[in-house]
Amino acid sequence: MIDVAVIGAGLAGCTAARHLSEIAKVKVFEKSKRPGGRIATRFLCQHQIDHGAQFFTARSPEFKDFLTPLVDAGCVARWEGRFAEFDGAQLIRETEWGGSPPHWVGTPTMSGFVERLSNGLDCVFDVEVARVEKEKGRWILFDTQGNLLGDYDWIILTAPAPQTHNLLPKEISFKTQVGLIKMLGCYSLILGYRHTVNLPFDAALVKNASISWISVNSSKPNRKNFSMLVHSTNKWAEQNMNTDLAKVQEKLFEFTSEILGFNVKFADYMETKRWRFANSIRQTDQPFFLDRSNQVASCGDWCIRGRIEAAFLSAKKLAVELLKDF
Ligand SMILES: Cc1cc2nc3c(=O)[nH]c(=O)nc-3n(C[C@H](O)[C@H](O)[C@H](O)COP(=O)(O)OP(=O)(O)OC[C@H]3O[C@@H](n4cnc5c(N)ncnc54)[C@H](O)[C@@H]3O)c2cc1C
Repeated sequence: MIDVAVIGAGLAGCTAARHLSEIAKVKVFEKSKRPGGRIATRFLCQHQIDHGAQFFTARSPEFKDFLTPLVDAGCVARWEGRFAEFDGAQLIRETEWGGSPPHWVGTPTMSGFVERLSNGLDCVFDVEVARVEKEKGRWILFDTQGNLLGDYDWIILTAPAPQTHNLLPKEISFKTQVGLIKMLGCYSLILGYRHTVNLPFDAALVKNASISWISVNSSKPNRKNFSMLVHSTNKWAEQNMNTDLAKVQEKLFEFTSEILGFNVKFADYMETKRWRFANSIRQTDQPFFLDRSNQVASCGDWCIRGRIEAAFLSAKKLAVELLKDF
């Protein structure tokens, strides 16, 4: 049986691993404590707040087919919130988010459906792959302490493009192309409350400001306890990527309070998360990278565009291609 190491247990890594497990022995390495990657949920006291991806749409038949059993099992549901648009601090549009295409979310947490996908896979958590080397025709992986993580016929890298680029040995044919893919940062402000705050919307897009998104996390299906989530713009995050996190949080309080008209600083629970590589711009060349002669491949949203559906499609298309060879 072919031995495969997958680096990363986000949606792309879990999707690739699940398909390849049909005929290969697959091991997944994930540096975090749980699967999901940027489909992430923060547990803060009584609150479970999605601080990465907020919702997703499904346009391709493949992704719709993938979602059907998850919807039937209650792991994914429609988010039918009240949607608003702000121009700076001015509310310019209010509408209902009912129709088509549906806005899907994981339930009761965003990351839950990736966790379900990872069930039954051979996943090793809390282990960062720091180095990969070829020895006697096999790929050898090492962690950050230099410990050996086994030897494999194939490796599949699914970390964000700059992190994948750092790990790829120089002889890999697509290393230069991956190095050219730029990813942009984002900050998330996570706010949990013991009481409910009345807002005229459940999800709001903000234009012409330093924040781009405010949502009432608890308005998603199957959530308890009032909580909000704010995203900075990619531009503001890039300009402040090395700023102290406490200062970033103060600025996010200020921007959000100005738009909402009350001081959000008095939340009961709060945290700020820095995403160094949150999104990527649309790519047009190929949905995955493959170096057959070296037996190395890479997939992830950044091969297509920074969206959940893209992460799934990139991994699925790569797996279909590899299954022809295995
Ligand atoms: C703030 C934010 C908001 C977003 N909003 C939306 C949205 O509303 N809708 C939408 O569709 N998409 C959204 N996205 C994008 C969406 O989250 C991604 O497209 C999708 O989650 C990418 O999945 P992936 O598996 O390709 O990558 P990731 O989820 O990044 O998975 C890669 C995994 O690799 C792991 N890893 C990295 N390096 C190593 C290593 N050396 N060793 C071991 N493990 C490693 C990481 O920990 C991670 O778990 C958002 C993203 C962010 C950050």
